[in-house]
Amino acid sequence: MIECDLNKWPRCLDCGDKFHPKRLSLGYQHCLKCGDNYAKKETDRKSKCVAPAYNKGAYQYVSSREQAKTVGR
Ligand SMILES: [Zn+2]
Repeated sequence: MIECDLNKWPRCLDCGDKFHPKRLSLGYQHCLKCGDNYAKKETDRKSKCVAPAYNKGAYQYVSSREQAKTVGR
């Protein structure tokens, strides 16, 4: 039984707790608890990062062109 072989269980990258090898086979590298937090953080970062980065780039492009015109006059 794989559940009894605690020595072979992988360790969570965040807290070091052992977690079920089946999670590792599914691609997880964190225990159930940290895995949930990590998934939430990832979702937050992705949804927050993409839009501001794009808007900031667009804003800087426009403002620097406007500034160049203003300074030239
Ligand atoms: Zn953990």
